[in-house]
Amino acid sequence: MRTAISPLVLRQPRSVRDALRMLREDGPLTPMAGCTDIYVGLNFGALADRRFLNLGGLDALRGIEVRGEVLRIGALTTCREIIRSADVRRRLPMLAAAAREIGAVQIQNRGTIGGNIANGSPAGDTLPVLSAADALVELRSIDWTRKVPFTDFYTGYRASVRRPDELITAIELPRIEGAQWFRKVGTRAAQSISKVVMAAVRGERPRIALGSVAPTVVRARRTEDALAAGATLAEAQRILQEEISPIDDIRSTVAYRREVAARLLAQFWTDTR
Ligand SMILES: Cc1cc2nc3c(=O)[nH]c(=O)nc-3n(C[C@H](O)[C@H](O)[C@H](O)COP(=O)(O)OP(=O)(O)OC[C@H]3O[C@@H](n4cnc5c(N)ncnc54)[C@H](O)[C@@H]3O)c2cc1C
Repeated sequence: MRTAISPLVLRQPRSVRDALRMLREDGPLTPMAGCTDIYVGLNFGALADRRFLNLGGLDALRGIEVRGEVLRIGALTTCREIIRSADVRRRLPMLAAAAREIGAVQIQNRGTIGGNIANGSPAGDTLPVLSAADALVELRSIDWTRKVPFTDFYTGYRASVRRPDELITAIELPRIEGAQWFRKVGTRAAQSISKVVMAAVRGERPRIALGSVAPTVVRARRTEDALAAGATLAEAQRILQEEISPIDDIRSTVAYRREVAARLLAQFWTDTR
């Protein structure tokens, strides 16, 4: 930090249980994972939080494993570990594709999937994947563990059902049948925040999710229903444009985002034919 005598408090738990106890008894505390979002917030003065909980040493929250039909990814797993995982590449290639497009190698080495979810940016690149994959978010407090469907996790712009005394501990992903598809549209190939990002699955029923086109990641259910019922692509594109609510900001415009979302839908539908 820039100050010689830091006004920041850092708690160092020795175990997940220890961390959960600190959150309950000594909160509010802001969990720190890879800190790629937190340090930016602190440096720009955009983050008012002063009391932090370092998750860095909690190895129980790291790692990727297959448990029966479920792919389980610990919250502290980095983008790099996701990209390198044979299990992810085999079962959820769209997640590996999303992780490959996050920041650049330095950010991928530090940034975690739990941090991407908890940060809750509508432009978070793993979020459309988790939505289209029907992921579950595992939340733990000192007293309980609960699993929330990812599509119910966000309640508004950067707001979620996570309570202050809970940590995201893991993500669970059921097996997916069908072709997976991911595309991020940004200014450059690296270090670029999405203007529009889409993940989709073409299986028995299509599943389509988009980021950067609304206050939270959007699961395009009406578009999915239309395509499943045999609508033309043009009709589905029209419905998708109604389902999203993009804004003008420094990265893009409403008109551009609407147009790109429709084109991504067409590209997905053609590529997976
Ligand atoms: C240069 C740069 C480029 C970037 N490019 C991209 C990009 O292309 N795409 C993209 O999606 N993101 C991008 N990011 C954002 C960031 O790297 C990701 O959101 C990353 O996944 C955050 O993970 P982290 O572990 O660093 O989170 P942290 O910074 O440690 O935490 C982020 C938030 O999540 C909370 N948190 C972290 N872990 C947990 C947990 N287990 N339980 C509860 N709360 C938790 C923290 O309290 C904090 O509020 C970029 C950031 C930078 C600085």
